[in-house]
Amino acid sequence: MKNIVLFGPPGAGKGTQANFLKETYDLVHISTGDVFRYNIKNQTDLGLLAKSYMDKGELVPDQVTVDMLGDVVSRTPQANGFIFDGFPRNIVQAEALDEILKTYAAEVNAMIALEVDDEILVKRLLKRGETSGRPDDSSEEIVRNRIEIYYKETAILKSYYEKKGKYHGVDGVGDIEAITQRLNAVIDAL
Ligand code: AMP
Repeated sequence: MKNIVLFGPPGAGKGTQANFLKETYDLVHISTGDVFRYNIKNQTDLGLLAKSYMDKGELVPDQVTVDMLGDVVSRTPQANGFIFDGFPRNIVQAEALDEILKTYAAEVNAMIALEVDDEILVKRLLKRGETSGRPDDSSEEIVRNRIEIYYKETAILKSYYEKKGKYHGVDGVGDIEAITQRLNAVIDAL
């Protein structure tokens, strides 16, 4: 199993790039944000709960998120590997992911971070909000709150994976195709 955490602030391009990587490396793409949005659309209990946090740009509580992630992973135990997009978002979740993968005798092989300047992120997210219909992309205040939460709570994961020798930073600005090639180079060298 090859398991990759695709990392970076909101708007860094994780979802876009995950769609290419999953084809190239035959990996299952799990975006926790997408799973929450699917549940909101289908008005499940999980969706209702998640929505109250997501609309403000805040993180959904760890236990809820970790249980959901474990559940999604368990649906394709035979997978060649996973791309985790938007998960983990803090140390509690990173440790939980280690435990979940242990049950499949697997581990996170690499965290690859897409590095993008904040002001570019704000522009990208507001632009996406014009067509995505995502409430959390539609106001500059919420977008900036999400980026702030990333720095306050999530960015610390860089050192968590650096200590394990698993952190790889990639320039996330430029042509989509050029960025994909940078990511491929990192994965090919693993
Ligand atoms: P994303 O699609 O990754 O930008 O996530 C959108 C929103 O979903 C976030 O702002 C959070 O409210 C929620 N969310 C997604 N992934 C997580 C996670 N790993 N932990 C907590 N909340 C999450």
